[in-house]
Amino acid sequence: MDRRKMGPREHLGLLFVLVLLLSLWFVRHTSREPAFLAVTENPNAQEQERASEPNEVESTRPDHSHPAFAERVVERQRMVDSQIRSRDVKDPNTLKAMQAVPRHAFVPARYQPSVYEDHPLPIEEGQTISQPYIVAFMTEVLKLDPNSIVLEIGTGSGYQAAVCAEIARRVYTIEIVEPLAVTAAKRLKELGYSNVFVKAGDGYYGWPEKGPFDAIIGTAAADRIPPPLIEQLKPGGRMILPVRGETGFQYLILITKDAEGRLDRLNVMPVRFVPMTGEVQKRD
Ligand code: SAH
Repeated sequence: MDRRKMGPREHLGLLFVLVLLLSLWFVRHTSREPAFLAVTENPNAQEQERASEPNEVESTRPDHSHPAFAERVVERQRMVDSQIRSRDVKDPNTLKAMQAVPRHAFVPARYQPSVYEDHPLPIEEGQTISQPYIVAFMTEVLKLDPNSIVLEIGTGSGYQAAVCAEIARRVYTIEIVEPLAVTAAKRLKELGYSNVFVKAGDGYYGWPEKGPFDAIIGTAAADRIPPPLIEQLKPGGRMILPVRGETGFQYLILITKDAEGRLDRLNVMPVRFVPMTGEVQKRD
């Protein structure tokens, strides 16, 4: 048997291993919160990673941090009670949205005193912002929930889009008058409505790349219902828009599409909206 004695190099090696083992024992038993554990054993680490995945990010509803949300709250409360709740709008989400959205942030300076009154008001480019009750009524009829994807035709000031965006997941809105689209997009962004997307264009064609939609709302009176909008309505979806009949009177029409794609049409109430322009006026 080879019983060779250990030389100085082996002694050094043994000493090194001993020191290493000792220091490992020391770290393990004395340090209470070793930094490397804090990182690798974070139970939320995976969650956080998932949340930052772009397709998984939940739509961000407005956080109401803009100062306008805290202004004229009592006037809005009065508007909701006396013009909307009193006329039988009952959906709690709609009432909450009408209370939340600062309507005065959507209207030109000269109409500020009457912005919470019971009527429509002029906005830029000869267009109008609807009466608060009509906005609430149309919103309620759509039966929106936090998963709804909405299409609006006729952005105007952006007010109706903001009301829908308080409830729905995302709102896509189209405005044919480009300066209005630009102003509304800027306003909505400033107010924190990052779940509203504005496009300048003719709403007749809808927004096929973003559809189909759970709900479609038209806020300009069409001479007939644009067929592309019907196509872009999801089965189970609802669409409300003003349509001008042969007599010249306008009615709000509610279209529902059932799970099999069958359509139902209901005349809801007489209204007065600005006309829908563009393609819808060209065809017979
Ligand atoms: N929803 C708006 C009010 C809209 S008034 C609000 O809350 O303020 C109707 C708007 O529809 C006008 O701004 C008008 O320019 C726009 N409009 C008319 N025809 C259109 C069309 N074919 N496509 C998109 N927008 C249209």
